[in-house]
Amino acid sequence: MRYSTFGKIGYNVSALGFGAMNLPGVPLEQARAAMNYALDRGINYIDTAAAYRNSEEIIGETISHRRDEYFLATKTGKRDYASAKEEIDRSLLRMKTDHVDLLQIHYVNYVNEFKQAMEPEGAYEAALEAKAAGKVRHIGISGHRPELLTKWIASGKFDQVLFHLNLAQPFANRDLIPKMTELNMGKVAMKPLSGGFIQPVEKAIRYPYSQDVHVIISGMVSVEEVKMNLAAMEQEVEQDEREELEQLAAQLGEHNCRRCNYCSCPLGIAIPDVMISSKVRETFGLLPKGDGFYQKHKEAILSCADYEPCKEKPLCQQLCPYQLPMQRVIQEAAGYYKTVPISG
Ligand code: SF4
Ligand code: SF4
Repeated sequence: MRYSTFGKIGYNVSALGFGAMNLPGVPLEQARAAMNYALDRGINYIDTAAAYRNSEEIIGETISHRRDEYFLATKTGKRDYASAKEEIDRSLLRMKTDHVDLLQIHYVNYVNEFKQAMEPEGAYEAALEAKAAGKVRHIGISGHRPELLTKWIASGKFDQVLFHLNLAQPFANRDLIPKMTELNMGKVAMKPLSGGFIQPVEKAIRYPYSQDVHVIISGMVSVEEVKMNLAAMEQEVEQDEREELEQLAAQLGEHNCRRCNYCSCPLGIAIPDVMISSKVRETFGLLPKGDGFYQKHKEAILSCADYEPCKEKPLCQQLCPYQLPMQRVIQEAAGYYKTVPISG
């Protein structure tokens, strides 16, 4: 596995980062084994967030005794000063540490939210204050709108960005990553499998590994998953393979959904999940997790075609900043049920 200097932050980070988001869903002893195994195998970047249920507490419980072995990144989802300050202090307590290496302003997708976080009495002020007090070493930002992030980082106020980069969402490569390289920032890609939809799995992990990023955060919950991710990053990516992966990303990313979540559906269809899985489903089929999603949402997906209020003008499409044809993609997805045995 590769290590590299984390932009201006300077830490020597492992290419694989441990995404701790899903740990609250497994027994504590399983989480303890997975995290300690990861540290033993040289993974030295841990990613969590105040919003990930009790993920921070699990980190505190399982690996705080090894605090000098990892770069610890958390996030605050608050936008105002007072709540962000409180949340930062709570994160430190929960993780049993006196500092985090990185605090990211979490999930900023709208211009007005960014403005709120950055203005006086905003979350950024709380982050700066925590930095001055030694509780936070660096400040970063995460979001699902690569074009907006590209603009926002030009201010020089952030040291790092966490963004999507996977075979079905290669969009950060266009402007965001080059801008971050220019500014010597820490580049962290997340969701190589986009929540369990993307396959083939090994190619999905190797795609971000083939790109210009420092760390790839993979959500892991067991020793087996840590082993699988490490195995996929054992060999460097050579030019031929890189080109093949980039071609695949161009194909699987044709849907153009950034997962910005601006859209919604009165029937409760999880539109971004269907959009992002669309080309993968057509090309390779679905992994069990993806199939589980499609079975769970079968009724809603099948109802889209007959939903009267959307007949003339699809409600969801009016909300998409990229003017994507979601109605067509959702209705095409209904064809999936004709190709697989339908359960339920
Ligand atoms: S077009 Fe389909 S997916 Fe879009 S809002 Fe209407 S019912 Fe929902
Ligand atoms: S379909 Fe459009 S609005 Fe919905 S998540 Fe994707 S990019 Fe955003």
